[in-house]
Amino acid sequence: MKFRLLTPGPTPVPEETLLEMARPVPYHRTPEARAVLREVLEGLQYVLQTKNDVVALTSSGTGALEAALVCSVPRGAKAICAYAGRFGERWHKIWKTFGVESIPVTAPPGRAVTAAQLERALADHPDAVAVCAVHSETSTGVKHDLAAFGKLIARTPALFIVDAISSAGALELRTDDWQIDLLGTGSQKALMMPPGLAFLSVSPKAWTRIESVQAPAFYFDLKRYRAKLKDPDTPFTPAHTLLRGLQVSLKRIREKGITNIWQECSRLAAAARAAVQALGLELFADPPAEGLTSIKVPAGTDGLQLLSKLEKQHGLKLAGGQDELKGKIVRLAHMGHIDYFDVLAGIAGLELVLMELGHPIRPGSGVAAAQHSWAGC
Ligand SMILES: *Cc1c(COP(=O)(O)O)cnc(C)c1O
Repeated sequence: MKFRLLTPGPTPVPEETLLEMARPVPYHRTPEARAVLREVLEGLQYVLQTKNDVVALTSSGTGALEAALVCSVPRGAKAICAYAGRFGERWHKIWKTFGVESIPVTAPPGRAVTAAQLERALADHPDAVAVCAVHSETSTGVKHDLAAFGKLIARTPALFIVDAISSAGALELRTDDWQIDLLGTGSQKALMMPPGLAFLSVSPKAWTRIESVQAPAFYFDLKRYRAKLKDPDTPFTPAHTLLRGLQVSLKRIREKGITNIWQECSRLAAAARAAVQALGLELFADPPAEGLTSIKVPAGTDGLQLLSKLEKQHGLKLAGGQDELKGKIVRLAHMGHIDYFDVLAGIAGLELVLMELGHPIRPGSGVAAAQHSWAGC
């Protein structure tokens, strides 16, 4: 059976990237390795639309956010954590773990924190030294309005810290225009790579703060990474096999053009949403992020059985909900190397399994709606 990975991380990796990573492992402290790192960091500046420094870390995406949170906010200080799901809550927990007074600003599952909520929190807590927000909250599929958040935060001394792990390379993301100070992402979502690399863009305002904070960090102490940036190198052994792979995936992104990628992602999202509605199902996220579609499991249907049948009978790996959303939602990704025909396969599989489970479905109605949406007619 042909297997299709349609989860919002990890995502499929293009063949040319896999082949590059299959080559023998060279030594890492060489001009050639530094040239690869330089090209990768420049490529990421392009993807993130920033002139800020970008540092490369060997970890999953969480490592980049932990480094950002711990190195820029000292123990005992106050920070605001805007979150609407499991990933955002993780950043709140990290701050609490390191003795930061983290003020939660939250939204119910499937909804996003609004700019008005953040404005109020900033007014109530003028002593907050940072604000953390998630661009695309992958656990529910909602999108946060970072442009609006950035405007509010820029009026204060606080740093704006963003989790762009599932949005970089999928959703419109303008780090500099939106005045984001620290932006973290990981390799295994829309960057078309396996897990293992994390990246952080750091503004001059953030560097000034970081230089003044005694961070309880060693491996993730960003000062060490800054010291190596001139002729770019890393303070510890880089995952240079992965960096070479990313060089290839970033070339693909450059060739297509980042704005074209954002546009395509949003067309894929529109097609998937049209299909869901035509099938009489409900969308879970409002407002939705363009990199994935969260679908409510219809009443009377076992969500776990639905996912298991999609995978075992049709080779379609979709994601379910986590924690209290387990069995209640299905998440279909359309980012990175997932294309329109992969999305159609996911929709067609959903139709087949829902019919088998006795849900009233007109076969082809979801696929037809996706086709109309994609064709623009
Ligand atoms: C996947 C994801 C994470 C977790 O990243 P890891 O690479 O597993 O550490 C955090 N935030 C968001 C929004 C994600 O999509």
